[in-house]
Amino acid sequence: MNILVTNDDGITAPGLLALAQSMMKYGDVTVLAPDRNWSASGHVKTIDRPVRVKEVHLAKNLKAFASDGAPSDCVALALCGFLKEKIDIVVSGINPYANLGHDVTYSGTVTAAMEAAIWGIPSIAVSLDSPNHHPGPIDYSTSAEIAGSVLEAFTRYKLPTNTLLNVNVPFLPLAEIKGLRSTRLGLRVYHDKVDARVDPRGQSYYWIIGDSPTGVSELGTDVGALSDGYVSITPLQLDLTDYHLLSEINGWEWKKPK
Ligand code: MN
Repeated sequence: MNILVTNDDGITAPGLLALAQSMMKYGDVTVLAPDRNWSASGHVKTIDRPVRVKEVHLAKNLKAFASDGAPSDCVALALCGFLKEKIDIVVSGINPYANLGHDVTYSGTVTAAMEAAIWGIPSIAVSLDSPNHHPGPIDYSTSAEIAGSVLEAFTRYKLPTNTLLNVNVPFLPLAEIKGLRSTRLGLRVYHDKVDARVDPRGQSYYWIIGDSPTGVSELGTDVGALSDGYVSITPLQLDLTDYHLLSEINGWEWKKPK
């Protein structure tokens, strides 16, 4: 099995190395990740400039490349011709912070996995729900092991090629994790505000900034599973159509513009 590992925190992120090393137990791993942090970059296709790739050393026996493109560019590069081998699955992460509810539209970790779905390759995004101001290095060992068991399950059950799994792992030792729940996207609550400032030349500039997002901890959702101490696995697809509204909008009476 050929596994592509990528992330949105950049090639030097410890979560990427932990994930790649865990994946090496299950197949042939190639890393192709951005050369810098693209967190909260959303789903990107770089079309206004060339993207460059260079081989880097991450660990012994690990083939790794860094690109100046976005996480989704890295996946497109790998799947559309940069790599000669056919990739069987794309695994993205491990992001240090959870990607829940609406986060999936902002997340570079998740949108890298979405890019794989576009190219018909199954994918898994893995995020760890570590606290925001965690002192010292984050321990990715539990989340890396859980990513391994999700991948192992994938090899037995297979995934439809247009589906991705969004996996979020509680920040707990393995022994304290209660289990695994399949979930739907929950409701994230954002606390952003616009902080308007003036630069030394008298020009206005703005920060969109606020406390970290919280969420509505509801049973059956990703937010609920994490707050109950479970690993959350949300199957996602890219069809955002609101099927309930389809027929209703068909019934609208339209006034032709004059
Ligand atoms: Mn990130």
